[in-house]
Amino acid sequence: MDWTLLSECMAMTVGGGLFLYLGPSYLIEWLYYRRRREALDQWKTQPDRASPARLRREEIRLGTLNMTWASVVSGFIMYHIRTGGWSQLYFEVETWGWAYTIGSTIFYFMLVDCALYWGHRALHLRPLYRRIHRIHHRWRTPSPFTSLAVHPVELATFQFFSLVPIFLFPLHPAGVIVILIYQQVVSVLDHSGVRFHSVFPWQAPAAFHDDHHIYFHVNFTQNMHLWDWIFGSWRREDERYGEERFLVDQDHRSPRMDYSRAAVSARALARLEPRRRSRSKGPEQAVVG
Ligand SMILES: [Zn+2]
Ligand SMILES: [Zn+2]
Repeated sequence: MDWTLLSECMAMTVGGGLFLYLGPSYLIEWLYYRRRREALDQWKTQPDRASPARLRREEIRLGTLNMTWASVVSGFIMYHIRTGGWSQLYFEVETWGWAYTIGSTIFYFMLVDCALYWGHRALHLRPLYRRIHRIHHRWRTPSPFTSLAVHPVELATFQFFSLVPIFLFPLHPAGVIVILIYQQVVSVLDHSGVRFHSVFPWQAPAAFHDDHHIYFHVNFTQNMHLWDWIFGSWRREDERYGEERFLVDQDHRSPRMDYSRAAVSARALARLEPRRRSRSKGPEQAVVG
């Protein structure tokens, strides 16, 4: 065992992983939850709700612990590869050429995203939801730190889906690393509770996953909302969803929810209306979580 190399691998994966989780999370916390806390109606997906302080501390603890152990596993895989262990990774672009390198990276992204979609849907089956996925849904008002506040088995499954392709078909490590970083940053943005919209047409806005935390068995996608569109789990406009409901009625014909910038803002402001009305009538109500 080359302990120096192993330490180097662990420093890269654990240090990099924690930086990718805590860095953007604390940045969003500071930019929005601290600096703009007086203007919730301008940026928050659920301006009328907030998680209690106890749950907020818990998501940071659980998320940090999860990222640490998952990065240790990645560190061992990196060590295995750097010591010449078997995988399908190739390090010279010339081996397969640029067209294959770019095409296989896109295919890897779509394959993993589709697997994560179905993995997430499976976690919403009653026994798995009760035992595993319910933990993540304790946060009905997600924050950036909620992205990794999941049952360790859930994270292990998702890590398996993300890493197993490097043993299945030839991939360039740079493409894999770019996709893994992209997935992690997007997961933080999706849970941020901020009305972020993506510059990438395939990427659902943050409100899309935020609605998953409010309405449960709908909007399962991690990155490409294409999957919810194809497989019929896109949130429907006048449909009632709840934690008690399992799977989505495929025959339902009401229109799909609109996730354009204007529609998301209008819905956030509409959520505030009852609170504003009750404020004007009587004493101020506490923000509920
Ligand atoms: Zn879920
Ligand atoms: Zn979530």
